[in-house]
Amino acid sequence: MTASGRVAIVTGGARGIGAATAKRLAADGFAVGVLDLDEGGAKAVAAEIVEAGGTAVGLSADVADEAAVTAAVDAVASELGPPVVLVNNAGVTRDNLLFKMDVQDWDTVMNVHLRGAFLMSRAAQKYMIEQKFGRIVNLSSTSALGNRGQVNYSAAKAGLQGFTKTLAIELGKFGVTANAIAPGFIQTEMTKATAERVGVPFEDFVAGAAKAIPVQRVGQPEDIANLVSFLVSDGAGFVSGQVIYAAGGPTN
Ligand code: NAD
Repeated sequence: MTASGRVAIVTGGARGIGAATAKRLAADGFAVGVLDLDEGGAKAVAAEIVEAGGTAVGLSADVADEAAVTAAVDAVASELGPPVVLVNNAGVTRDNLLFKMDVQDWDTVMNVHLRGAFLMSRAAQKYMIEQKFGRIVNLSSTSALGNRGQVNYSAAKAGLQGFTKTLAIELGKFGVTANAIAPGFIQTEMTKATAERVGVPFEDFVAGAAKAIPVQRVGQPEDIANLVSFLVSDGAGFVSGQVIYAAGGPTN
């Protein structure tokens, strides 16, 4: 079976890795629900997909809000059909050293990444189980291995790896796989904001990062979209519960 007619949801799809993934899955033949806090951005990406001949809807929802998640997933199901692919990509950073980190910055990061992936997966799995087919891809990060100034984010991204493995164990018998992608440095608004915070021009920040990466370049959103495309394909049905680092080289 090809992707044609199947429905995918990409959270945080308004820009960056999520937008590239939504466009790639649409090109692969999926009808795509582009979900984001930023409604205008989500609708703009959906419009681009439609313009290119694909099928998509843009929706606004906070992935950490239980009622909003249920409403958005059900809206995708009624507008496009039962979602069988879910990419939990929405994310935020609230970096600070431990002694300066306030509780709100801890909670925000936990809520978007962990509570968000939980709520989205719980809402979408019922459609996957009915279809006896599903693919869940969670965006982790190399920060899961530890990163100065990111005690909240690294804990959330490591948490997503355990979450992914448990989803794989629970849902495998229903034809549903779950995998995590852990990107290294990807050139997006998120890494641009990090450069601004540390006071380095983004170009210099990117060039400096590239030097330390074996392939001598930083990642682009399409590098991650390509991997998502594989993991949600029929051919990836025996790959489940894995964490795949996409960082231009090995990680520690
Ligand atoms: P980005 O900041 O460019 O985009 C994130 C998107 O998520 C935005 O459109 C934002 O509006 C949306 N979003 C944030 N909170 C949300 C919420 N509560 N509900 C719905 N949408 C929400 O980020 P990006 O660089 O494209 O990152 C995408 C994912 O990849 C994130 O999970 C991030 O942690 C992860 N990641 C990024 C990198 C990197 O280097 N850029 C590296 C590793 C992992």
